[in-house]
Amino acid sequence: MFEAIRRWRRERVLKGAAIPNALWRQAIESLPFLGFYTAAELERLRDKVVLFLDAKGIVGARGHQVTPLQRVVIAIEACVPVLNLDLALYDGWENIIVYPDEFVPGWEWEDEAGVVHKSIGALAGEAMPGGPVVLSWPDVAASADWDTAGMNLVIHEFAHKIDMKNGDANGCPPLPGGMSTQAWQTTMATAYEDFCARQDRGEDTAIDPYAAESPGEFFAVLSEVFFADAALLRQEYPDVYALLARFYRQDPAARTGLRFDEPRSLGAGGRSADHNHR
Ligand SMILES: [Zn+2]
Repeated sequence: MFEAIRRWRRERVLKGAAIPNALWRQAIESLPFLGFYTAAELERLRDKVVLFLDAKGIVGARGHQVTPLQRVVIAIEACVPVLNLDLALYDGWENIIVYPDEFVPGWEWEDEAGVVHKSIGALAGEAMPGGPVVLSWPDVAASADWDTAGMNLVIHEFAHKIDMKNGDANGCPPLPGGMSTQAWQTTMATAYEDFCARQDRGEDTAIDPYAAESPGEFFAVLSEVFFADAALLRQEYPDVYALLARFYRQDPAARTGLRFDEPRSLGAGGRSADHNHR
């Protein structure tokens, strides 16, 4: 019964809220990493995007006007991780708030000694537990092209949202039946420790050093790499690649057709260590 209502509602939304072809093409063309997607995948992505936009508000703040193109671009990148998963992973909150620039969040937190800290730095993006995703539009625009930016802000924040579905953004999202939490944690912790050791040695890594911040950031940054530069992740951390491929039910490296051992230059894509926190 509920399933029938859900299907009916889905069909009604897909019919009633279609994205104009020209707008869709423009949005897809502004995201070069989608160039490897098959026509069938893009069609499925488009349906997901329509359903996502029906469920979420994308609203400007501090005078920022969200254009139709910005709206669709943000929705596409948000839907890339859940292309083969249930959109319900994004249930429990309503809005994406878009700022005209980086923003200083108002939150405070208490450390183990009971001292209350106030956030000080400006953020490019933030995923708030149970609340909105907040994005700086210039940072979204700058990270649309992975080859020049080496990051993808929207995928990053939505990976945090998926991670938060079962509590804190701790790098362990809710796993489907058949995937072992212990195996997940072992694989991720092994890779995380290796990555942190490489940072400590001062190694110039192709993966954003920001991944060393915490296991939660490691998951979010590696999710960006998984979707936008899959061959890089498969080369650097093949076990994590395999884990994320099972979790997200996608094999993006197979799309690109790049061989596992294809040489990659370190630091390609203008990686820099000074990305603002996100
Ligand atoms: Zn983050």
